[in-house]
Amino acid sequence: MTGFICKRNDLSLILNTCNPAKYKRLQIEPSTIYVVPTPIGNLADITHRSLSVLSDVDLILCEDTRVSRKLLNHYGIDTPSKSYHMYNEHHTVHGLVDKLQQGMSMALISDAGTPAISDPGFLLVRACLQVGLRVITLPGPTAFIPALVQSGFPTDRFVFEGFLPHKKGRKLRLSELAEETKTIVLYESPHRIVKTLTQCAEVMGPDRPASISRELTKAFEETLRGTLKELETHFTVHKPKGEIVLVIQGKY
Ligand code: SAM
Repeated sequence: MTGFICKRNDLSLILNTCNPAKYKRLQIEPSTIYVVPTPIGNLADITHRSLSVLSDVDLILCEDTRVSRKLLNHYGIDTPSKSYHMYNEHHTVHGLVDKLQQGMSMALISDAGTPAISDPGFLLVRACLQVGLRVITLPGPTAFIPALVQSGFPTDRFVFEGFLPHKKGRKLRLSELAEETKTIVLYESPHRIVKTLTQCAEVMGPDRPASISRELTKAFEETLRGTLKELETHFTVHKPKGEIVLVIQGKY
């Protein structure tokens, strides 16, 4: 099979190379919102179907139109776009629902990964479902699944915690997580990771096994496995850069 190298402005190549009949453009439904995951670093990590939807909907809702423009330009997609982010979602939801009810089709994307996963999207999905609009969520990139699988910890049962609260409720959340027996998955920023590892080691014990995946799918991707204390020491010495997923083994 050939043709999986994604070239700039070459949507038709991607959609048609392998089997033209199979990858022809899909029918877009009116009055429908498509939730479309986008790459978390490697632009090739987008499905044929996602590209097809992004090309053919009436409007793309982007978390940051400048960020998404890079992806859309890369694939030669010139669908109109509009911003939909955490600062305007509360007051734009109803207008968007109206437009969908009038027959528009829309795609919702975030800067990276799956919308509504630690990103805006939940409010719009809920509002659409409440009035009976169709919501079609496409499968695709998200950071926590590769980090979980790479950790080597049990994947049959896990809890996705997203970002820990920065202040209020943080202590309580950490003490609850200390008793959690399922694998724990957390999102964290590089400037907070040492503090989070220190606090996790305090409540869960320094020897609790953990894994950190950094810059997944990007040039300097790495996964480090060790105890919470070892990872804390490592990142105290080697200042972490880039985006991070912390996975912690559940309590035995
Ligand atoms: N919606 C996204 C998803 O589906 O994964 C998550 C968006 S959230 C605002 C951003 C966080 O996701 C980052 O702080 C980091 O914890 C994680 N993340 C996103 N991209 C990543 C990557 N390439 N490598 C590691 N973690 C990543």
